Amino acid sequence: MVKKAMRAGIIPALFLSLPLPVLSEPKLAMPIDCALGESCFIQNYMDRDPGPGARDFTCAGLSYNDHKGTDFGLPSLAAMQAGVTVRAAASGSVRGRRDGMIDKVYTPKEDARIDGRDCGNGVVLVHDDGWETQYCHMKKGTVHVRNGQMVDAGEPLGQVGLSGRTQFPHLHISVRRAGQPVDPFTPDGDPDACGSGSARAMWIDDILYQPGAVLSAGFSTGVPEYAAIKAGTAAETDIAADAPALVIWGYAFGGRQADVLSLRIDGPEGRFIDKRLLIKKDQAQFFRATGKRLKAPLTRGIYRGTATLIRDGAEVSAQMVSITVQ
Ligand SMILES: [Zn+2]
Repeated sequence: MVKKAMRAGIIPALFLSLPLPVLSEPKLAMPIDCALGESCFIQNYMDRDPGPGARDFTCAGLSYNDHKGTDFGLPSLAAMQAGVTVRAAASGSVRGRRDGMIDKVYTPKEDARIDGRDCGNGVVLVHDDGWETQYCHMKKGTVHVRNGQMVDAGEPLGQVGLSGRTQFPHLHISVRRAGQPVDPFTPDGDPDACGSGSARAMWIDDILYQPGAVLSAGFSTGVPEYAAIKAGTAAETDIAADAPALVIWGYAFGGRQADVLSLRIDGPEGRFIDKRLLIKKDQAQFFRATGKRLKAPLTRGIYRGTATLIRDGAEVSAQMVSITVQ
């Protein structure tokens, strides 16, 4: 019957006369003031695996089980303290906001204090047609929009912080339609499609997918504490010729089993050290360091350090640093 009608051209004519559904999906502006791949990095995407595993929209592992948003991470606490603005991704009105929670690295001991407020200090914006965006883990005392306030796309909401259930300073942004989480990188769904990043995304800008990166690198006179690296205070810039040792370290995210972190120092007399350190298991974040104890003073001059994340023999990301030894 239908076939017959279609052959007669009746159905298409009817179809065309129906009103087309209005597509009012918001286009999303960058929700954070930073240069992606330089001063901030997307460290986790929405989990597209419906089961207990985790995979991002490219079918890689930059996610964790049941993660319902996108995490824009900062390389250090120092960067967070300096102040990085969180901005409305689209125009809308403030449906909820919270401030007053402290900025502190999450451990299970914090559960009672956090009391289910995993988002920490945050903002929920309502857009047209049941769309919402939510911004989490903002810095205490910076959320300066009020309930019911209208905001334009790009308008500041507050600053990136470390409040709620988070272990590193980052902006978590969730996108929802009718209460259901939507991956802004592949809003059309199909978690099995494994897009490469060129799939239709909701972002106004092209956002390059980085499968991992070196967040920071630096010189020091001993192996630094991991806490100092995460704080952004591990890099020593004033190293004397009679230092006890010269060390280079690299801090990275998205490490996968069998990756290599190559650490190298070139000094005034050529190659000082060159080590390739194997990453033995997947690690969301990690650091490695290598160096030499000094039996004689360092030759004065410029030392250049390079930390390179290598996967399957190819460079994923590198950071270069230099110091002058006097
Ligand atoms: Zn998150």
